[in-house]
Formats: sequence, structure tokens, C-alpha cells
Amino acid sequence: MENVVIIGTGCAGLTAAIYTARANLAPLVLTGLMPGGLLTTTSIVENYPGFPEGIDGFELMTRMQQQAEKFGARVKFATVESVDLKNQTIRLTVDGELVETKTLIIASGAGHKHLEVPGEDILEKKGVTYCATCDGALPMFRNQPLVVVGGGDSACEEAMYLTRFASTVYLVHRRDALRASRIMAERTLANPKIQPVWDSAVAEVLDATAGKVTGVRIKNLKTGTESLLPCAGLFVAIGHHPNTQLFQGVLHLDENGYVERVRGSETTIPGVFVAGDCSDHVYRQAITAAGMGCAAAIDAERYLAGLSH
Ligand code: NAP
Repeated sequence: MENVVIIGTGCAGLTAAIYTARANLAPLVLTGLMPGGLLTTTSIVENYPGFPEGIDGFELMTRMQQQAEKFGARVKFATVESVDLKNQTIRLTVDGELVETKTLIIASGAGHKHLEVPGEDILEKKGVTYCATCDGALPMFRNQPLVVVGGGDSACEEAMYLTRFASTVYLVHRRDALRASRIMAERTLANPKIQPVWDSAVAEVLDATAGKVTGVRIKNLKTGTESLLPCAGLFVAIGHHPNTQLFQGVLHLDENGYVERVRGSETTIPGVFVAGDCSDHVYRQAITAAGMGCAAAIDAERYLAGLSH
């Protein structure tokens, strides 16, 4: 029987792992399919305290994992297939095997939202991508016009990163103002390689029959007119959805699928705690996820102490 199982190895999961490991609880930490979480797909993280020069997202997550392991966390590359929260002993099926635990910290994070337009799915990895830092340097994107969709910090970051490789980066946004933080928006709009395409949506990704991206059909949302924008790549950066499918019907989720917290990091089930982007659609920062991971670890530790009295 485990004391603590943590689902997820993003900032929330690994911070929970550091705290529960330092409390001698030897947490079992399950990575899921994306060890390190979304931050591993970012380039430089400039707003995590303690790194005035910024730190590479992958490096930050690697260091967090090392820190957790140093204190006795067991990080396992594994996926949770199902959860049974009906009894005091929490039961998980992990890659076909039963794992029993007294407490569970859910830090399963969030995934990229899709545009859901024709051509998008079929051309994924053939020019359609959700991560500029992962794919931007590929030869097929070099010196080519590229399209980024979105108006938040992610879209700005992706667009700026892609200016290293692209001939031009078109930033297609459905409104006429960016949602991104002021510093990011100003930097983006000042970049001569970035051309905003306002009030517009991507209606279709071309060319599914050619098996690669050759352009996008753009619709101006104010006039209704459509035009063709030739490009070699489409980078979708329109936000995220929580990775909580596993908990549907098992835990209380809000209408967008985020795990509801009842007090601190507590969920509706005793012994089950939650942290990070799977429960937070407001802040969604590395540092807030880390803070929530810390809180969940402390709550789990206190719950365990209560069980033994
Ligand atoms: P976001 O802030 O939710 O922005 C999503 C953008 O995509 C919005 O501009 C939205 O348009 C647009 N959008 C949403 N659904 C769309 C659809 N179906 N079709 C077309 N456009 C759509 O998401 P994010 O940029 O991923 O940022 C998430 C959080 O992470 C934020 O808190 C952000 O500050 C943070 N973040 C920070 C950094 C950094 O500080 N370095 C980097 C990345 C992310 P509307 O504006 O019209 O709603």
C-alpha cells in the first residue's frame, strides 16, 4: 500500500513530490505520456522566481525531478488507466497493474486545444503542430511563411520563436487585440517578421490530398470574406483543456472539465487532492502550479497523520 501516489510530473506534481518525499512518504510519481508536462515544450521561462537570466523549460523540469528523487520520490514512466475512489483505499490501474494508496494527488495538467477545422487532424505532424519549440526548427519550416493561431501569451511566444526560422510569421487572431500580457504583446507586434492578421479565423488547413500543409483558408470574421494564405506550417496556440477524462463520473468536475476543489487542495473525495492546471483555469503559471503542488502535499501529509491517530 502506497502512502501517496502523484499523477503528473509537471510543476504541480513534482513540487508535491519534493514535499511529500521530504516528509518521508516515499511518493510514487506517475509521469503519464508527457514527463515534465507542458513546460518541457516551452523555450525560456522568464518568470519563474530565482532565475534572473531565465531557464529552459526542459531543464527546469529535469531539475525538479532530480530534487524530488534526491529525497526519495519514485518517478515511474507509466499511465493511469482507471481509478476507483469508492472506498477508503484508493485503487488505480497503472499500465495493467493494481496500485493501492492511502492518498492521491492529481496533477495531470492540461493539453493543447485543437481548432477542429477540416484538414487539422489529418495534417497533424505534417505541418500542423501545437508546439513551436518542439517542431519549429524542422527543415520543412525553414525560410517558409508560417501561421500561428491565437492571441495569448502562448501564441506570442510561439510566433517570436518561429521568427528564427520562418520567412514571415502570420499571427492569426479572432479579435483585433491580443490577450497576451503587455510585455509579450508589445514585443510581438514590434517584431518586423511578425504580421498580425486581425479579426480572422482559420477555416481550413490545406492540402489534405497532398499530405502536407501548403496554406490555410482564412475567414475574416467581420466581413465574412475568405482568402488563401500560403504557408508551410500551422502552429495552433489557442489554449488548453484539462487532462481529467479519467475522473469523469468519479470526481466532481466543473462544466469545462476542471477538478473542483472544496477546501484548499481537497476534492470531494477524502484522501484525494488536486494541484495545477487540471484544477486551475485562472492563473495557469509554473509558479502557481508549484504552489498548488506544495499545498496538496501538505494537505495529504496532514490527512495521513489524521489516519494514524
Ligand atoms: P489563453 O491565454 O487562454 O489564450 C488563448 C488564445 O487563443 C486567446 O487569444 C483566444 O482568443 C484564442 N482562442 C481560443 N479558442 C480559440 C479558437 N477556437 N479559435 C481561435 N482562437 C481561439 O491561452 P495561452 O496563450 O495558452 O496562455 C495560457 C496561460 O499560460 C495564460 O495564463 C498565460 O499567461 C500563460 N502563459 C504564460 C507565458 C509566459 O509568461 N511566458 C507563456 C505562455 C503561456 P480570445 O483572446 O478572443 O479569447
